[in-house]
This record gives sequence, structure tokens and C-alpha cells, in this order.
Amino acid sequence: MIARRPLIAGNWKMNGLKAEARALAEAMAARFNSVGSVGFDMLLCPPFPVIGTVVGAVAGTGIAVGGQDCHAKVSGAHTGDVSAAMLADQGCQFVIVGHSERRADHGESDAQVRAKAEAALAAGLVAVICVGETEAQRDAGQTLRVVETQLEGSLPAGATAQTVVIAYEPVWAIGTGRTPTLNDVAQVHGAIRAKVARVLSAEAAAEMRVLYGGSVKPDNARALLGLADVDGALVGGASLKAEDFWAIGCAT
Ligand code: PEP
Repeated sequence: MIARRPLIAGNWKMNGLKAEARALAEAMAARFNSVGSVGFDMLLCPPFPVIGTVVGAVAGTGIAVGGQDCHAKVSGAHTGDVSAAMLADQGCQFVIVGHSERRADHGESDAQVRAKAEAALAAGLVAVICVGETEAQRDAGQTLRVVETQLEGSLPAGATAQTVVIAYEPVWAIGTGRTPTLNDVAQVHGAIRAKVARVLSAEAAAEMRVLYGGSVKPDNARALLGLADVDGALVGGASLKAEDFWAIGCAT
């Protein structure tokens, strides 16, 4: 079996003024520096205005930094937007695209998510593509169909395990303290890998990291991250506490 190095990604969402962002990033950097090596990759995704602050605070540690979104175009008349090239220029290596809060708040479609992911790849960033069902879709038994449709619509052609990470985030589990059963997570992650094999290739599917996201905390991380097809976590609330985020990483 191919070993996929776990990725623990923190989505800070719209949280963190400069001083808080620096303190949190420095706290993560200190933990990295206090140990010789770790068995996982760490990614911090702060809000745009503090990306430079965070990049500076984690420089030399191996902790990666990413944006929470990008525009599909390289530049132009798109007031308030940020391009993937701008993120790369600030020192980012990753960008989250298609987070359910973007899909809900900004009406982003699968096609737009794919265009953003393509822009990320063109700028040399790794795209973290989020998929996941709402509670109503889950209750209607549509989870696998929804997730597979999102993947089909948002995975860029030619994506590889080096350029794309998938995050399965059930919308109803985000910020609620609720999580699917381990069996349900295992089933969806298995289906995601099978879908990636059909859309891309068996090789891409075997190597691509598929993260779980939605109320991951130190006390449930070990069980979730212990599932065969779960290659890390996308963490919201718990990534704002250095101790909790580190504990989640150490649970891999
Ligand atoms: C998220 O926003 O991607 C997320 C998973 O949030 P939380 O961990 O707070 O549920």
C-alpha cells in the first residue's frame, strides 16, 4: 500500500487580527521547533490580510501556509478578490477552494470551484478541494451521489496527488460538534477514492490525500485519523487553539 503522509490543515476562517495571528503561528512554530521531526505535514490557512505575518512567523519550520479561497483569474477588474498568483507571491503553497461556507455565502458552483482549482495549479499552488453534503441531503440518503457529483464537477483534468488534496466536510458537521460515525466516514472516503480513480487515474486515487473535516477535536482525532482512507484533517475551530491543533497533529 502507498504511504500517504498525513496533512493537518487549519482553516482559521475570518478570525485573527495581526497580533493574534502572529501569536498563534509562533506557538505552532515553537512546537515544531521543539521536536526533531513529526510524522505529518501542517498547513495554516489564515485570512488574507495576515498571510504575510503568518508566513514570517513559521519561516524555516516546514509549516506550510495557504489561502482560504482564490479567484479563477490571474488579475483584472475583480474588486475584493485575490488571485492564486498573489497567494503564491505571499509565500503560500496551498489554497482551499470550494469550502461549504464559500459555496453557501457566495453561491459558488462546482464549475467555479474547478476554475479556481485550475487557477491554483497554474500558480503552482496545491488546491484543497472541499466537498460534502448538507444535512437534508444526508437525511435523503444522497451523500455519496452529492459528493461524487461535486468531485466530477470540481476536479481539474490532469490533477495529481501532488497538486490536489480533497477534503470531505459534511456541511452539518462543520462547527456543530457533531461528526458522522466512523463507518460513514470510511464509506465516504472509500467512495471518494474510487471516484478519483474513475475521473483521474488509479495512481492518482491511490496517492491523493483525502482529509476529513467537521468538528475534529483532540478527543475524536485519533479515531478519525486512524481510518484507512483518512489522510489528515481540515480543522476549523480547534485550529485556533495551538494546544488543540498540535494534539490533533500528534494523533496521526
Ligand atoms: C471547517 O471550517 O473547515 C471546519 C471543519 O470547521 P470545524 O472544525 O470548526 O467544524
